[in-house]
Amino acid sequence: MARILAVHAHPDDIEWLAAGTLALLSRSGHQVAIVTATAGEGGSAAFGPEETGRIRQAEAKDAAALIGADYRCLGFPDLGVFNDDASRRRVTELLRELSPDVVITAAPVDYHPDHEAISLLVRDACFAAPVANYRTGSAAPLGAIPHLYFCDAAAGRDREGRPHGRDFAVDVGDTFALRREMLDRHVSQADWVRKHHAVDDHLAAMEAWARRVGRDFGVTYAEGFRQYRHDPYPRTPHLQALLGDRVLSPPAA
Ligand SMILES: [Zn+2]
Repeated sequence: MARILAVHAHPDDIEWLAAGTLALLSRSGHQVAIVTATAGEGGSAAFGPEETGRIRQAEAKDAAALIGADYRCLGFPDLGVFNDDASRRRVTELLRELSPDVVITAAPVDYHPDHEAISLLVRDACFAAPVANYRTGSAAPLGAIPHLYFCDAAAGRDREGRPHGRDFAVDVGDTFALRREMLDRHVSQADWVRKHHAVDDHLAAMEAWARRVGRDFGVTYAEGFRQYRHDPYPRTPHLQALLGDRVLSPPAA
């Protein structure tokens, strides 16, 4: 059994980008945890930040429970995630507590500043987690840097609209219905994305995105990933091995 940790910025980001893969892993007996940097307390025009944060954490917990995953929030402010010393120590302590074999996080380029910041924080916390003299809290340093993966950015593009690359995708046809149900637990976001993102139906928009990735790889629904392989991060295809024949190679250029 492997320990899988998915860290993104806001409640519902993982449901948009990687929850079908997490559902496959959970179904195979692996232990899955979903963590968000923030409670997403900016994401409501109907409630104030405290109430919104409470609502959204409860929604995220319900969604994670559908695949038997634990959920927790790191408590950074919405639109206030920065790659600084205190934040890196907080994320490193999380990694030391959960001791994941595989970490999945946001793409380093994305439309939202919190997405880009949590991606950098997680990347650097993976490096820091085994460094014994880097002090964070009570959890013991990791034995090694975990395998690190980035999921797609929203719409697969950076802030200038340029598409980013992918190493592989995962065929999530078998778990897509579950992923959709997970997103549907984020009830508060149906109104919010209509108002703020001009997305009329967030379930339909998410489905269109999963179909779009699937089309690139010749299946109905897929989720895209990139493995971070720079020295001294592990280069072995650990997540790919756990997913077996669900892994799809990119089409030949
Ligand atoms: Zn987000």
